[in-house]
Amino acid sequence: MEKRDFYEILGVSKNASEEEIKKAYRKVALQYHPDRNPDDKEAEEKFKEAAEAYEVLSDPDKKAQYDRFGHAGMRGAGGFQGGMSMEDIFEHFGDIFGGRGGGGGFDPFESFFGGGRRGRQQGRGKRGSNLRIKVKLTLSEIAKGAQKKIKVKKHIACHTCSGTGAKDGNAYQTCSNCQGSGYVQQVTNTILGQMATTTTCPTCNGQGQIITAKCSTCKGIGKEYGEETMSIDIPAGVAEGMQLSMSGKGNAGDRGGPPGDLIILVEEVEDPNLKREGSNIIYELYINFADAALGNDKIEVPTIDGTARIKIPAGTQGGKIFRLKGKGVPEVNSYHTGDQLIHVNIWTPKDLSPSEKKILEGLRDAENFKPHPSGNERSLFEKMKDYFS
Ligand SMILES: [Zn+2]
Ligand SMILES: [Zn+2]
Repeated sequence: MEKRDFYEILGVSKNASEEEIKKAYRKVALQYHPDRNPDDKEAEEKFKEAAEAYEVLSDPDKKAQYDRFGHAGMRGAGGFQGGMSMEDIFEHFGDIFGGRGGGGGFDPFESFFGGGRRGRQQGRGKRGSNLRIKVKLTLSEIAKGAQKKIKVKKHIACHTCSGTGAKDGNAYQTCSNCQGSGYVQQVTNTILGQMATTTTCPTCNGQGQIITAKCSTCKGIGKEYGEETMSIDIPAGVAEGMQLSMSGKGNAGDRGGPPGDLIILVEEVEDPNLKREGSNIIYELYINFADAALGNDKIEVPTIDGTARIKIPAGTQGGKIFRLKGKGVPEVNSYHTGDQLIHVNIWTPKDLSPSEKKILEGLRDAENFKPHPSGNERSLFEKMKDYFS
């Protein structure tokens, strides 16, 4: 899928100010917001696309990189090249749609963000880190999609205190400094007068609660090292190096904080017979000279899901390509499935018995054994000449 220009996505010029970019993003995001376009995949894609554009254009460093190198400059630059999940978007940009606890007024995002935030508020501890794993997939798994059961070692919520970090899971009290809100107002004197700012409560580090006795298993952190078996769904058509992200399946957060994500890196297991080229599968078929000359309708070739029988017509030349339609790999972003291409090679024997030699000697000067390439083969030859000259 061709990536669209970030400026075009947001409908702003390259000279747009930060404020203009923010405004434009807000407008596009509102238009394609999932609440307004329920079950509309296209709107969802547009919504994600806008978030990705904003992620880059709102960050001066990334914007400069993008202005210089375009999309190519974004690879490995911490961009969301694997696509952003809805959770990512709301986690990063949720506050662009309205301040935290902002007062009153109709908020078209409330229901959606409300749902998103609730999960995060169950604990106010630090978010867990992302967990990266590699998954090896065979061609057949890639072609059909796979469900894999994997066991990962990671931080999980402490079983003794249920992740609270408090002894018996209940030895905590409301922070008296912030009355449990996790935030405090600070008034500072500046040359412009007094300014009030809201900051994280230093007493409880924004937790809203103070642990009176720490859990002895986790020493108050609320997490421990453990193992989790989970099943992951790999969509059909993924490729080597692709990253899939499962939100909330990473390491547990501190004291009930939200878990990080699980990042799955796809590795292709090399197939002994079949090579993958994008959505096509290539098979190098070797047939002997007799089959090439006489034809053979019982040639078996391996495919992704077993074998197929193909017919080699009499007079088949080396280099000929047969196509098994739809026997390739589905494309991950479309409904198209590739083909299996069978590339014919004629096997020349290396050892011959005296009687075999005698037969071939007898045929060497036969009229029908003189090569006389027809149009097709000659054009292939011409092409090769072009290629090497
Ligand atoms: Zn506090
Ligand atoms: Zn504990």
